Amino acid sequence: MSRVHRIKCGNVNCYVVENGAGGVLIDTGKKESVGKVLEACRSCHVKLIVLTHGHFDHAENAAELSKTLGIPIGMHEKDCGLIRSNASQTLVAETFLGKLVLSASLREFSVRAVPEFQPDLLLRHGDSLSDFGLDGQIVALPGHTEGSIGVDVEGKHLFVGDALMNMFYPTVSMLYHNRADMLASAGTISGFGHRTVYFGHGGPVSNRQWVR
Ligand SMILES: [Zn+2]
Ligand SMILES: [Zn+2]
Repeated sequence: MSRVHRIKCGNVNCYVVENGAGGVLIDTGKKESVGKVLEACRSCHVKLIVLTHGHFDHAENAAELSKTLGIPIGMHEKDCGLIRSNASQTLVAETFLGKLVLSASLREFSVRAVPEFQPDLLLRHGDSLSDFGLDGQIVALPGHTEGSIGVDVEGKHLFVGDALMNMFYPTVSMLYHNRADMLASAGTISGFGHRTVYFGHGGPVSNRQWVR
């Protein structure tokens, strides 16, 4: 049975999911938190870094953690361009709070750069994490970014990155590259049924019908 460790890195989360034999790190947090994330990975035999998407608050420590721990980085091919520039996929927001978050994000995108790396694994929907000791699968959740992915572990824990958000309250993503895809992915998550949903931003909640 797997354990979930939520590592808060300022306003963003990353997660170590492990079962004693193996484990993965889901997202890597902001650079200010690299020591804390490294410590959690070392104590839990983490064998893979999965990036839910390429935004800096999730990917900034990927290169350093991969190098220090000697473990691969997996992400979706369609977000690789974001590693070079977080501005390479447009983002929009429609709610008042969403627009506030968007303007703060765009400001940060202009001053933060994700240290370059080449992903070792290009992850796709349905890929298994059994090689890394975990009973889990990759779930495609495009919309927030083109290459957004989630991780479903043991039919219990569903990690959704920024495909949903809980910054202020649990909701479909407040910022997105493609609205129709984002809403379809929210529907995909609802369809999983009974799960604990772990967000990139905010505390976990029970799965529900996610609608705008
Ligand atoms: Zn994001
Ligand atoms: Zn984020």
